[in-house]
Amino acid sequence: MMAHRVKIMQGRTFRFNLCDCPPYNADFDGDEMNLHVLQSDEARAEARILMQVQENILSPRYGGPIIGAIHDHITGAYFLTHKNPHFNMFEAMNILSKLDNIEIPKPFIDDDGTPYWTGRQLFSIVLPKDFNTTFKANIYDDEPEEGLVKIRNGELISGTIDVKAIGNSKGKILDRIARDYGSERAAQFLNEVTRLALGALMNHGFSTGIGDEDIPEEAALQIANFNQECIDKVSQLVDSYREGTLDQMPGRSLRETLEVEVMKVLGQARDEAGRVAGKHLGMSNPAVIMAKAGARGSMLNLSQMAGCVGQQAVRGERLARGYWNRTLPHFEKGDLGAYARGFCSNSYKSGLTPTEFFFHAMGGREGLVDTAVRTSRSGYMQRRLVSALEDLKLTGDGTVRNTIGTVIQFKYGEDGVDPTRTVRGKAIDLDDLFAEVMGDDAEELLHHMDENDAGDDYGAKEKDEMEYTEEEDNEEHDDLDTDYDGGGE
Ligand SMILES: [Mg+2]
Repeated sequence: MMAHRVKIMQGRTFRFNLCDCPPYNADFDGDEMNLHVLQSDEARAEARILMQVQENILSPRYGGPIIGAIHDHITGAYFLTHKNPHFNMFEAMNILSKLDNIEIPKPFIDDDGTPYWTGRQLFSIVLPKDFNTTFKANIYDDEPEEGLVKIRNGELISGTIDVKAIGNSKGKILDRIARDYGSERAAQFLNEVTRLALGALMNHGFSTGIGDEDIPEEAALQIANFNQECIDKVSQLVDSYREGTLDQMPGRSLRETLEVEVMKVLGQARDEAGRVAGKHLGMSNPAVIMAKAGARGSMLNLSQMAGCVGQQAVRGERLARGYWNRTLPHFEKGDLGAYARGFCSNSYKSGLTPTEFFFHAMGGREGLVDTAVRTSRSGYMQRRLVSALEDLKLTGDGTVRNTIGTVIQFKYGEDGVDPTRTVRGKAIDLDDLFAEVMGDDAEELLHHMDENDAGDDYGAKEKDEMEYTEEEDNEEHDDLDTDYDGGGE
């Protein structure tokens, strides 16, 4: 629940900035919302201090922004700043006309005397005037010279603005503005960035379609050939398992060793398909731009559409259940080959075979069941936690006490730190401090910046860990289906 300031507009529905969708988990598949209109001064005060949207940009969960630019905003900012394009008077004014109260910077003049503005110049308009930072953009690994973002005195000097700059949970510029300049300034920044980015995107034009996943015939052939090689390798492994010539791995049975080896080989097949598809799609492809800038989709999504869907899995293992000694009646009993255990060598675009389709539905169902189970479980856990902790409060002496004054914690959270006031979970950001004190000399210290950044994509990490522990939990109930793949003996 968040508080919004009402502005009367045309139309018969309410609207808010797209950036506010993630905290509400809102999308456009028929969502409705409830609106509570405040009735008392106390309620109004509480809403204004605690519940306003801008007060919730930084998440108390891990101290990073949960409200940030998404989808088209990121693509737009990418087109505005990538390779620093030039805009003539008409284009620049068209983009800037979406912003109020701005000071238009002095244009550059090209050789024949016509004025032009650069994309980075236009982006700098929305930055605070004394803002300094250096970080690596999402595209850094692909294009290091375009990916190192440098901002000095509110001017974007180099680099491309993408999800790592303004996106939710990763947006470093957004994060710094919210922390150093306050929530009001961060809200203004977000409003202006969205308008600027959409202006830039509309000036550029952007579209994606099924044709973006087309790869040349020889690339498709290359992928098919490599897939066949891997499938043959799997058959060889199965043969050596049956003959007993397979080298057993320490701590694993022969059967488990086979599974590990097979998964390794089939993993290579998918990676190779991704590599070949990625090489042919290239950075001019709109779908690739979205994936690399962090707007939507991933290279894995693209390689599954263009190259090869890959191995389907249930509980992290190749498919094993179904009929007696086989997954589907289309295969021989005891078949342990790639196709018989859920390998999909087709791409989504080329279309799955009937058996691949069944396997894909089996793997896909696990995801659906997991989300259904997890939301209800974590929802109830939340309810119990809130009930258990609702009467605790932080007192003036820094202790956490309950209603009768019993000390629960001598120091709030055992470190006395409010996550929203930290830099991604850490009390201070040494890199920022160095940069502030030493200026550009600090740069050689900055290369280790990304390595131990806990806040960076913290949510995703946490999710991975959760999945990992749940997998471990399940292991003991999992032995039901390990017995019936004994190869028909
Ligand atoms: Mg919905």
